[in-house]
Amino acid sequence: MVKEYSNGEIVVIWKPELCIHSGICVKMLPQVYKPKESPWVTPGNASTEALKLQIAHCPSGALSWKPAAEK
Ligand code: SF4
Repeated sequence: MVKEYSNGEIVVIWKPELCIHSGICVKMLPQVYKPKESPWVTPGNASTEALKLQIAHCPSGALSWKPAAEK
């Protein structure tokens, strides 16, 4: 399963089967990653640069990103 969350510029991709629940995403960007809410990722709450930096720190590879489709 792959979940996608867009902020209009990039799409945050989350692969739950890879997630080891280290919580690093939640610690780095608590305004974006809220495990108890649905959707649990709200990328509009951080800048694209902050999202990319955080995604690079995900230890499992569960998080990645791609450019959002042109409108
Ligand atoms: S940082 Fe990556 S592995 Fe850790 S909880 Fe977030 S998505 Fe899962």
